[in-house]
Amino acid sequence: MYFFIRFKVVLKTPICTFDAKTGILCNLCENKLGSGQITQSDVEASIVLSRLAQKNSLVNKMTLISAREIEREQVLLLKNTDVRLIRSNDSLSELINKGFGKEVWILESDSNDRRFLDNLFYPMHLESVNLVWLPDGSKLTRIVIEKSTYSKMDKLKLEKIKKISMAIRQIDLIIEVDD
Ligand SMILES: [Zn+2]
Repeated sequence: MYFFIRFKVVLKTPICTFDAKTGILCNLCENKLGSGQITQSDVEASIVLSRLAQKNSLVNKMTLISAREIEREQVLLLKNTDVRLIRSNDSLSELINKGFGKEVWILESDSNDRRFLDNLFYPMHLESVNLVWLPDGSKLTRIVIEKSTYSKMDKLKLEKIKKISMAIRQIDLIIEVDD
């Protein structure tokens, strides 16, 4: 007689799988929320993703590290391989956007500042990224976007990018378009 033990790969989130499915937090997760170890955004995003994971096996293999809501922008920090997968699969990114009812910012949880910025500006291409020190000792990060990858439609997006960059990495941006 053979026993097949299958280690089922399931969506990982900042809360337990069961909590994410039911939308009700266990004591452990409730304590994490109370102590600030996780946030309400983490909880809400975990529940939405869990709902999507039940319909989509690719979402079910993902790892949500954390979620942030910055003004009205929904940001998901996922495992790097998940980000690459979503980038290469339009229907998957559409499914996620639909699930959240808005366009979601998908970012790598584990990346240096340059990669973080590349991801944030995607699909715009960054020509250069330079640090600028101000006389008062504070620093700004000056970004030049490649003109061919920029359209006037992106103007509003740049304002959102500035807010997200500041909120998540405390990177204060000045953005220019090369011409
Ligand atoms: Zn739990």
